[in-house]
Amino acid sequence: MQEILKEQARAILKQNYGYDGFREGQEELITSILQGKDTFGIMPTGAGKSICYQIPALMLNGITLVVSPLISLMKDQVQALNQMGIYAAYLNSSLTTSQYYKALEFAKKGKYKIIYVAPERLLTESFLSFAREANISMISIDEVHCVSQWGQDFRPSYMRIVDFIKEMPTRPIISAFTATATKEVKEDVIYILGLQDPTVVTTGFDRKNLYFAVKHSNAKYDDVISYLEEHPNTSGVIYCNTRKNVEDVCDRLIRDGYPATRYHAGLSDHEREQNQDDFIFDVKPIIVATNAFGMGIDKSNVRFVIHYNMPKNIESYYQEAGRAGRDGEKAECILLYSGQDVVTNQFFIENARENDELTGEALELVKERDRERLKQMTFYCFTNDCLRDYMLRYFGEYKDNYCGNCSNCLTEFEEVDVTVPARALIGAVDSCHERYGISVLIDAVHGSKSQKVLKFHLDENAYYNAAPDISLVRLRQIANHLMLTDYMYQTSEEYPVVKLHEKGLNFLEDEELVISMKFPKVERKQSSKKKAAKTKKVLEGDVDYNLFEQLRELRYSIAKEKKVPPYLIFSDKSLTDMCRRMPQTKEEMLEVNGVGEVKYIHYGEQFMEVIKQAAIQTPEPAAAVSETE
Ligand code: ADP
Ligand code: ZN
Repeated sequence: MQEILKEQARAILKQNYGYDGFREGQEELITSILQGKDTFGIMPTGAGKSICYQIPALMLNGITLVVSPLISLMKDQVQALNQMGIYAAYLNSSLTTSQYYKALEFAKKGKYKIIYVAPERLLTESFLSFAREANISMISIDEVHCVSQWGQDFRPSYMRIVDFIKEMPTRPIISAFTATATKEVKEDVIYILGLQDPTVVTTGFDRKNLYFAVKHSNAKYDDVISYLEEHPNTSGVIYCNTRKNVEDVCDRLIRDGYPATRYHAGLSDHEREQNQDDFIFDVKPIIVATNAFGMGIDKSNVRFVIHYNMPKNIESYYQEAGRAGRDGEKAECILLYSGQDVVTNQFFIENARENDELTGEALELVKERDRERLKQMTFYCFTNDCLRDYMLRYFGEYKDNYCGNCSNCLTEFEEVDVTVPARALIGAVDSCHERYGISVLIDAVHGSKSQKVLKFHLDENAYYNAAPDISLVRLRQIANHLMLTDYMYQTSEEYPVVKLHEKGLNFLEDEELVISMKFPKVERKQSSKKKAAKTKKVLEGDVDYNLFEQLRELRYSIAKEKKVPPYLIFSDKSLTDMCRRMPQTKEEMLEVNGVGEVKYIHYGEQFMEVIKQAAIQTPEPAAAVSETE
C-alpha cells in the first residue's frame, strides 16, 4: 500500500514538477500525510516544503486548504501551480468582493484541489459556511512558527486556525511547516495546534549550494560595485539595516547605471508592490531592501544576497541569506562587516520594543536574549573557522568543521602567537576590576588617549600601551577569540562590561601559558586570476554562457507576455540543465530538471528551437547577446 502511494507521488513529481527525485525529508512527510497522520516538517528555506503538501493535496480525495501569512506568497504559489496545469486559487484581501465570491463559487463546485487562504479569512461567515459544506481533506499551515510567541514573527491571527479546526464537522489532516528550528517553537506548534501524534521531520539545515563569506569592510559601496562588476546579469538582494541606507545605496546604484530598485516599510503599499514585482519579474534584478523584504518571496533565481550591514542575529541572517539559490544552483551570501553595525544593532535592541505590551521583567529578559544573539552574530564575523559550521552549530547541528565552500575554508591561515596582546587584554580587564567595556579596553591597551580612556584613568593602568604595535582591528579579533575560547566574556547588560572566566585568571597567574590563533596568511585576497575564473561561474560547470543568455531572453519574453515571473516558466536550474544536455527531442527535454509534461506542452518546442540553433552554430564565444534582460 505504502509503495503504491510512493510511486504515485513520484509520478506526480515527475509529471507535474519535472523533478526526478525527492529531496531529503520530502517523501517521509508526504507518506505520513497520505497515511492520514498529522505531520510537521521543519526544513530550511529553499528545502522544498511546498511540494510536501502540494503532492498529497493532489492525491487526497477532497480539498486542501493552505494557510499562509503572506499575500505575495499565495499569489506566487498559485501561479506556479497553474503553470503546471494544477487548478488552485487564493482567498485573501487582495481580491475584490466580487472576485472573492466568484472564487468561493468555483471552490464550491469543486474546481480547485488547493485553496490558499489568509488566516484572517478563516472565521468569516462566508468562508466558514463554505468550509463546513465542502469536503476538506487537509489543512496545511505554512510558516507555522507564526503561532508561537517564541518565533521571530508571532501573528495573533494564526490563533484562528485552532478555532477554525474546531468548527469543522470532521477533523481534517493537519500538516504544518516552518524553517524555524528551535525547541521552544517546535513544542509550541505541536501544543497550540493540538497535533495528534504527529510525524515530525527535521531535515538538515545545511544549504550546500550556498557560498558564505564575511568581509570586514570600510568601503562597502565599492565592495558591492566590484561584486556586481564580477557578476553581470545576475539577480540578487542587498540587505541594509536602515531605510536611509537602503535609499542611499539604491540611489547610488541607479546613478551608476545598475538596474536596481528598493524596498522598505517606509514606502507606500503601491510602490512596495511595484518594486517587488519589478524584482520578481527581473525588470530590476537587483533589490536593495531592509529586512521587511523577503518573507514569502519565492524567487528561485536569486544568485547573491549581500548584507551591507550585519543583521541582529544568526536566525535572521540564515533566513535572509537563504533566499539565495532556492533553485539549488550555486549562489553566494556575503556579509560586509563594520564595527558600526554592532553599535546600530545595540541601539535597536535597547530602543525597539519600548512600546510593546511586554512588562518590565519580561522585556528585560527579551533584551538579554537579543543581546546574547547579537554577540553570537558578531562572533560569526570574527571566527576564522568554517562559517557554515559555525552557523549549523548554532542551530544545534554538529558537522565536520570544514565545508570547503566559505571564505574561511578557502583562505589559507597561519598560526600566530598572540600571548603578549592576550596578556595585556586579560590583565587590563583584571586590573580595572572588570568594570569596562571591550572597546575602551582595547583603546587603552593600544595606547590611545581617547576621551574615555582618560576619563576612566586607564592611561594610568599597568597595561596601558602594552600592545601599541598591534592594529585595533587585530586587537578586536584577539579579544573576540578570547571570548570564544572562554578566557573572558561580555555581560548581557545594556552597557556590557568584560569579565574574566576561571581560565582567564589562570592564564594571568601562569606565565608559562601561551595563546595562539589563526590569521589569514594573505589578507583574504584571492589572486585576480582566480577571481576572474569565478566570474560568470556562479553558474556551475561548463555551461555555454551565450546559450544560457538566449534561453533567458526567450524566458523573459514569454514571461512578459503571460504576465508571470520568469522563474515560474523555467528556473535558472532548468535553463542551465538545458545548456548542459542540449535536448533535441521531447524525450530528451523531459529529462531536463524541472520540465514536466505540462510545461513541455507550453514551452518545450520554443526552447528546443533555440537550443537547436545553438547546436548548429560553432560554440565560439560570440559577443554578448543582451545587456540586461
Ligand atoms: P521552501 O518553501 O522550503 O522555502 P520551496 O517549496 O519554495 O522551498 O522550494 C524551493 C525550490 O526547490 C522550488 O523552486 C522548488 O520547485 C524546488 N524543489 C522542491 N523540491 C524539489 C525536488 N524534489 N527536486 C528539485 N527541485 C525541487
Ligand atoms: Zn567552510
